[in-house]
Amino acid sequence: MTHVLLVEDDPMLGTNLKLNLELEGFQVEWAQSLKAAFEINEQRAFQLALLDLGLPDGNGLDFCRRVRADGSRLPMIILTAQSDEDSVVEGLGAGADDYVKKPFSNKELVARIRSALRSPQVREEQIRVGNMLVLLEQRRVMVEGEEVPLNRREFDLLKILIARPGVVVTREAVIQQLGESAEQIFDRTVDSHISHIRAKLKKAKECNVRIKSEYGVGYRIVVLD
Ligand code: CA
Repeated sequence: MTHVLLVEDDPMLGTNLKLNLELEGFQVEWAQSLKAAFEINEQRAFQLALLDLGLPDGNGLDFCRRVRADGSRLPMIILTAQSDEDSVVEGLGAGADDYVKKPFSNKELVARIRSALRSPQVREEQIRVGNMLVLLEQRRVMVEGEEVPLNRREFDLLKILIARPGVVVTREAVIQQLGESAEQIFDRTVDSHISHIRAKLKKAKECNVRIKSEYGVGYRIVVLD
């Protein structure tokens, strides 16, 4: 199922778009403000975003810029109110992939969505936890546009932990998933990798993701309030 983030403050248009896209088989989360868009986007990973520009608390382009600054390749399609050349050019400059001029037909929008989803750069899988974005293919971890430099082992470890945020992953499970036949991994090694990741996450500006130790059991990824 393709998860679409719809950012649109017009209640009638938003309701219609959500309904029609759901009929086309998309799962739609609807944000009616810029603030809501940021919040919803932090809670889950989307495959595409549809962005209205004129929002009550700001411009949809700010969403676009921030997402790109995070290193995300999330496809974004701008819904422009007028045939305003400037906002289209600005939108594409801010990292949007495409735009649709209002009024548009559902058929046209769905065609644009499918086309944006087909483009090769969007195939990369990413996981978002709190304000941390993990780009699985690029093996990069971004926090608010800043990269957290992890080595190979640290990245693998973090990837195992973030697969199930909030859930305790036992040390045995970590060791098993990290396991490479040639290499014997001891508890101490895992602990030392964890402490390195912790230090790096703490150093990253405003990172709200922490690795908690559950004594004698394992580790848990938590997002601070
Ligand atoms: Ca609007």
